[in-house]
Amino acid sequence: MAYNPHIAPLDALILLPQRLAATAIDAACVSANAIAVVRGLRTAGFDAYLVGGCVRDLLLGATPKDFDVATEATPEQVREVFPRVRLVGRRFRIAHVRMRREVIEVSTFRRALDEDAGGRALNGHAGTRVSAQGILLRDNVYGTIDEDAFRRDFTINALYYDPDREVLLDYCDGRRDIAARQLRLIGDPVRRFREDPVRILRAIRLAAKLDLALHPQTEAAIAPTREMLAEIPPARLFDEFTKMFLGGHGAATFEWLGRYGLVQALFGLPKGGRAVAELALANTDKRLAQDKPVTPGFLLAAFLWHAYCAHLPPGNGRQPNEDVREQAATAALAGLRANIAVPRRHSLFVRDVWRLQPGLENRNADSVAAALGDRRFRAAYDFLLLRVAAGEVPAALGDWWTEAQTMPLEDVVGQLPTVRAPRRRSRRRRRRSRTAAGASEAAVANV
Ligand code: ATP
Ligand code: MG
Repeated sequence: MAYNPHIAPLDALILLPQRLAATAIDAACVSANAIAVVRGLRTAGFDAYLVGGCVRDLLLGATPKDFDVATEATPEQVREVFPRVRLVGRRFRIAHVRMRREVIEVSTFRRALDEDAGGRALNGHAGTRVSAQGILLRDNVYGTIDEDAFRRDFTINALYYDPDREVLLDYCDGRRDIAARQLRLIGDPVRRFREDPVRILRAIRLAAKLDLALHPQTEAAIAPTREMLAEIPPARLFDEFTKMFLGGHGAATFEWLGRYGLVQALFGLPKGGRAVAELALANTDKRLAQDKPVTPGFLLAAFLWHAYCAHLPPGNGRQPNEDVREQAATAALAGLRANIAVPRRHSLFVRDVWRLQPGLENRNADSVAAALGDRRFRAAYDFLLLRVAAGEVPAALGDWWTEAQTMPLEDVVGQLPTVRAPRRRSRRRRRRSRTAAGASEAAVANV
């Protein structure tokens, strides 16, 4: 079959580079693999374009995180065109095409809820399902490219780029908003946020990442719809959590969320309890900029630290025992789980980081040796440094641990008093007379 592109309405077909000279996409910045997927589909007779975040980012001068392709081929047809394809997605089916080492997301043109229904949900329509609150649960109704454009979230996410003809198809006035660097929901903003409240988080994430303004009507639609985020499946919110905070612009995203009352709504974090979370986000952004590994567990430990501490009984200067601390951890995690489903491996990480904190604060020979040998020591130490930076614990304590890691274990432990720890199993006891150095260390240890 010959390649037969869908004929777009004339005013939607914008020729590059004449009309978009200043922001024209530099084909050299487009992934060769993504172009290969577009060409592969076309050779097989299916219309296909680059779309979404990659086109938006290139037009705004940012580096795309990944490349999305939109096509008229169904996921099953995509699977017939390429050798390595995985079909994923529950809300809608998407084909992940592996091209060399890159995965290109290929989605089929779809249409949104039927406008003719006057905004009413189309539950009778095969492939579309809407909840009682108007949330779109599934929208697998295939459509044409222009219908596909209008079902997308923001105008600047609905630009289609044809890498062969170097043209941009713009059905929703996306270029106008690219030029103004603003995010504008397509269609009626309240309805579009209500249909999928995760769009609120996407708006904030994109605005923070790309330094965009929210169009006034889009912004005004947040307050009347934000409580609908409670309706979103917790697993989807966890995905969005990682996109918001592990994408390199977590600190800015957090600040934006705060502006719209969403830090409190999502994490139950009051204004006064955010220092550790903010520092953790700044730290994570910095690590990502340096290509260092990051984990959602560390951020969750920071986000929930305030709740965890609030669940601990007043200690009158003494640390609560391990069972009490475990219960506080369970309560803090359960408070979040109501909204965001944290996979078990991450919640275990959070617990470990919290569990190790008292041992880092109240040092004795046993706790120090145990902490240094713990596989979560590094994370717990990094977390302690956040608490130092937040002014919760003295800087001398952070310095002590920094130093301790450069010394042989025997020397570190040798300075410290031995304390009986009856709850622990198989503990190696060291008999040691309390030296002057040990005594002064003990005084520091209990700060
Ligand atoms: P990035 O990949 O940089 O995070 P993106 O905009 O590409 O940003 P994706 O999740 O990859 O985000 O989505 C690809 C495209 O699919 C979007 O640009 C948008 O057109 C459309 N899209 C994604 N999520 C939604 C949604 N919840 N509602 C409507 N359209 C959406
Ligand atoms: Mg994308």
